Amino acid sequence: MNWNPFRKRASIPLTMTEERRPGHRLEFIPSQDTRAAIDELSEVVRNNSEVVEIYLALGSLYRSQGEIERAIQIRNNLIVRPGLDETFKARAYFELGRDFRRAGFLDRSAHALQKARELGGDRQAILQEEAKLAAQAGDNERAARLYADLDFPPAQAHYLVIQAREARLSGEGNTSEKRLRQALRAYPGSVEAWLEQLIQNHDGGEPERLGRTLTGALDAVDKDLRFVLLEGLINHAEMRRQCGSAHPHPTECDTHQTEIINFISDDQLQSQIVPALERRTEPLLTYYGARLLLMCEYTSMAQAWLERSLEVEPDFWLARLELFHLSRNDQPLTPFFEEQLTFFVDRARNIKRFVCKRCGLRRDSLFFVCPRCQNWHSITFRIQITQ
Ligand SMILES: [Zn+2]
Repeated sequence: MNWNPFRKRASIPLTMTEERRPGHRLEFIPSQDTRAAIDELSEVVRNNSEVVEIYLALGSLYRSQGEIERAIQIRNNLIVRPGLDETFKARAYFELGRDFRRAGFLDRSAHALQKARELGGDRQAILQEEAKLAAQAGDNERAARLYADLDFPPAQAHYLVIQAREARLSGEGNTSEKRLRQALRAYPGSVEAWLEQLIQNHDGGEPERLGRTLTGALDAVDKDLRFVLLEGLINHAEMRRQCGSAHPHPTECDTHQTEIINFISDDQLQSQIVPALERRTEPLLTYYGARLLLMCEYTSMAQAWLERSLEVEPDFWLARLELFHLSRNDQPLTPFFEEQLTFFVDRARNIKRFVCKRCGLRRDSLFFVCPRCQNWHSITFRIQITQ
């Protein structure tokens, strides 16, 4: 039979049951037509590389639309086809592994990737997929090892830091420090590792070490990511302060499953933050310095730092807003106005401040891997509101 998939395309009915049943998108049952279409299409596929590529791409398109069952059906059709070249079969198994991972069937995904490997599939691509699979399964040790094999230190360090954090939370201080050292050895600029070090210094009640760590971290971490250190430290310190005031006496905090720690005080924090940050000219770091000072209730110093940050970057909307909010005490405001202003400032503070520089995704909390485009360390801060 002389097939031309492009000529036939219009007559291949990709009719889907769900299209006839609006509101039932999740209850996907391939219609007779769809099965027939896929079967028909798979007839086309022998060892014609172009057609196999199109067929695999169709499966990936379904996967990206969340229609995993259809994607899997396409891969399986290829796999069972007698006489199919092993290169294509390996590709089909590889894609099947990705489909299963997307669907959350992690064991099946591992099995499919193993098959792809046995058939001589692209070793690097398989390794990469296995690393993602290990991370998704929460096997951080394996994820770190696989990223080391892939020679991708940022991710290797990331999963070592997760192990360090887990060890810290289970009270295994030595293991935690060891994993952290390994992470920094693998990748000296690891923002996650430096942040975890700051948190350990904070919770360990070691103000001088925290000051030294912060200075070292600001030198080692990529300039676009330095704010992450301070955002993370502030979040952690605020959480500890809330936790501490919620449980002033018990030796163990139920919420955080950890001993109440004698973390460093506001005055100690202030005395370390100022020397580490006052020489910095980046408006974002000055702004975060001001936020830390506000947390420690050094209000007039915070005000001066916000002003400094605005001198360098007049369009820094969040710094301007904080300053505006601080100066409300200098103005005689009616209760109504005061209430409106507080409402507005609270809402604005919760606006999505972080944006992925690769895909534009906006988030209101830190991320190390973009949840949408999967890029590592692509987070930026929206200094200007139009960003
Ligand atoms: Zn992204």
